[in-house]
Amino acid sequence: MDKKRVLIVEDNELNRKLVRTLLQIADYEALETSNAEEALKIARETKPDLILMDIHLPGMDGLTATRHIKNDPELRGIPVVALTACAMPDDEQKALDAGCDGYISKPIETRNFIDRINSFMPCEKDREQENEVQDCRKRILIVDDDPASIKLLVEKLSKETYRFLTATDGREGLKKANEYIPDLILLDVIMPGMDGFEVTRRLKSDPKTRDIPVILVTALGDEGNKAEGLRVVADDFLNKPVSTVELQARVRSLLRLKKYREQTTVHSRCEKEILVESSRGIENPQDVIVPLVLVVEDEEKDAKLIMEYLDGLPCRIKLMEDGLQALDFVEKHKTDLIILDILLPRMDGFELCKILKNRHDTKNIQILILTNLSDLESEIRGIELGVDDYIIKPINKYELRARIQALINKKAHLDELCKNYENAFLSAIKDRLTGLYNRSYFDHYLEIDLKRSERQKRPLALLMIDIDDFKIFNDTYGHLTGDRVLRQLGKVIKENTRETDMAARYGGEKFVVILPDENLENARKISERLMDAIKAGFTGYSVEDIPLKLSVSMGIAGYPSDGDSVTSLVNAAEGALYAAKKAGKGRICMAGEINRI
Ligand code: GH3
Ligand code: MG
Ligand code: MG
Repeated sequence: MDKKRVLIVEDNELNRKLVRTLLQIADYEALETSNAEEALKIARETKPDLILMDIHLPGMDGLTATRHIKNDPELRGIPVVALTACAMPDDEQKALDAGCDGYISKPIETRNFIDRINSFMPCEKDREQENEVQDCRKRILIVDDDPASIKLLVEKLSKETYRFLTATDGREGLKKANEYIPDLILLDVIMPGMDGFEVTRRLKSDPKTRDIPVILVTALGDEGNKAEGLRVVADDFLNKPVSTVELQARVRSLLRLKKYREQTTVHSRCEKEILVESSRGIENPQDVIVPLVLVVEDEEKDAKLIMEYLDGLPCRIKLMEDGLQALDFVEKHKTDLIILDILLPRMDGFELCKILKNRHDTKNIQILILTNLSDLESEIRGIELGVDDYIIKPINKYELRARIQALINKKAHLDELCKNYENAFLSAIKDRLTGLYNRSYFDHYLEIDLKRSERQKRPLALLMIDIDDFKIFNDTYGHLTGDRVLRQLGKVIKENTRETDMAARYGGEKFVVILPDENLENARKISERLMDAIKAGFTGYSVEDIPLKLSVSMGIAGYPSDGDSVTSLVNAAEGALYAAKKAGKGRICMAGEINRI
C-alpha cells in the first residue's frame, strides 16, 4: 500500500524538521512548504491525506488558507489540523471556526504527536461513522482491565439507551476516546500499565477530549484515591461494588451537565458575535455573586461535620434545621444549592424538593440529598421528583466538595441559559412580541451549533412551525388578537422545549426550534408532543367567548441527511413545511419524506 501523505505548512524551520522526522518514523510521507499560497497549490496537485497548518505564516495566514481549502469541493475532504501556539489561547477557537478539523498545540509533544495525527487520518471507517451520526444514543466508553466488570456495567446501563465502546487498558482507552469522542467515560482506577489517574490527566490535557466527563470507578471509601481523582479533575466517582441506580443516576446527571455546558458555549459565542457593542460591561466582575449554599440538617453532629467539610469553599453557607424554615429562606434569598437531609422535622426533604422543583422560580436550585446506603434504592427511585444528586452517608469530604463544585457549576450554566430569555439587554437578539430569539440570532446560532454537531459527529434537527390561515384569522379578529395568539404560541413553544433547545421567531407567524443532538426519529416524536401542546394551548382560547379555531403546520429537517449548512437546512425545513400545508395543514411533514409522498 502507498504511504499516506501529510502536507506540513510551517514557516519555522525547526518545527518543520521535527514534524517531518516524527512523521517519517511513523512511515508517513511528508510534503513541506513554508507558505500558504504554495500549500494550496501543492494540495491541489497532490491531494495529501492530511494537512498540518501553522496559523501564523508570512503572507496568507493559515486560517485563510484553511478557509480556501474548506470552500474548495475538491479539497474540503482533506482533514486540516492547525498547529497552534499555547501562548495564543484564542488560536484554538479561531482554528476550529475557520474549519480546521482539530489542532495540535506547540511546542509539539513528541510522545503523543503521532497518536494525534492518526486520530485525524480519514479511514475507511468514515462512511460507517456517517451513518452512526443518526444514532442518537449517547456514547459511553468503558475502560477496565477486567472484562467481567465491563460486561456488568454494560448490563446495568442498558444498550437501548447508550452505545458502548470498551477498552481493556489505559492506552487503548485513550486511543478510543480520541477516535470516537464519546459523551462519557467510565474509568477503572487500578489497571496494569497506565492507571485511571494518568488516563484522566491525559484526557483532560488534550483539547480534543477535555470536555468529556470522566467517572472514576474506585474502591469504596478510599479517601486517598478520591483526593487523587480530584487532583486530576475527574468529574465524578463511583464506588465499587457499583450500585445500579447510583450508576444510572450519575451517568444521567453528567450527560445532562455536558449538554448544558455545550449549549451555553454556543449561546455565549453567538452573543459575543452579535452583541459586541451592547454587551460591554455586562461581565462586570462586581456582578459575579458568590454562590449561596443552604444546608438543611437537623442532626447536630452531622450538621457540624458538613460545615467543617465545606470550610474554605468559595461560597456562602447557611444552616437550617427543618424543611419549612428552609422553604421560607429560599423564597427570600436567591439560593444556588441545597444540601438536604431527608428526615427532617415539619417538612421532610422529599416534600421540600417536590415543591421547589415544581415552581418556576425555584426549579433551577440544585438539590443534593444526603442518604443512607440502605435506603438508596427506594430513595433514588423517588428522585423523579428532580433531585440533582445525592451522597451516601457516611459523608466523604472529598466527594462532598467535588459534588458541590459540580452542582454549582451546573447551576451557573442553567442560570446562564435562563438569563438569556430574561435579560432586557438582550433585546438586540430577542423578538419583542414573543420574547423568543429573533431571526438573526437564530441564523448565527444554527451556524455555530452545526459546526459543533459536525465536530462531535452528532445529528441535529430543525423544526419549522407556521400558523395556518393566519391571514384570515387576522382579517376576522383583528391584528391585536393576532398578536395575542403569536405571544401565546411563543409561550407554548418555550414551555414545551428544553433549556438546551433553541426556539426563535423566524418572522411573521413562523417559528423555528433547533433540537441539538436529536435525530429525525426523535425530532418527529418531539414535534408530535409539541403539536399536542400547541393544540391544548389554543383550546379554550377565545375572544369574547367565541372559541378560536387555530392550527399550525410543521416541517422537520435534519443534519446531516437533509442539509449541512444553515441555508440548506432551513430550505429543507421550509420545503417540508410547505408540503405539510399542501397536504391539508395542521400536520407534520419530514423533509426526507417529501419526494416519497
Ligand atoms: P398558510 O396557512 O398558508 O400559512 O396561510 P397564512 O394566511 O397563515 O399565511 P400568509 O403568509 O398568507 O399570511 C400570514 C399572515 O400573518 C399575514 C400577516 O398579516 C400575519 N402576520 C405576520 N406577522 C404578524 C404579526 O406580527 N402580528 C399579527 N397579528 N399578524 C401577523
Ligand atoms: Mg401561516
Ligand atoms: Mg406565512
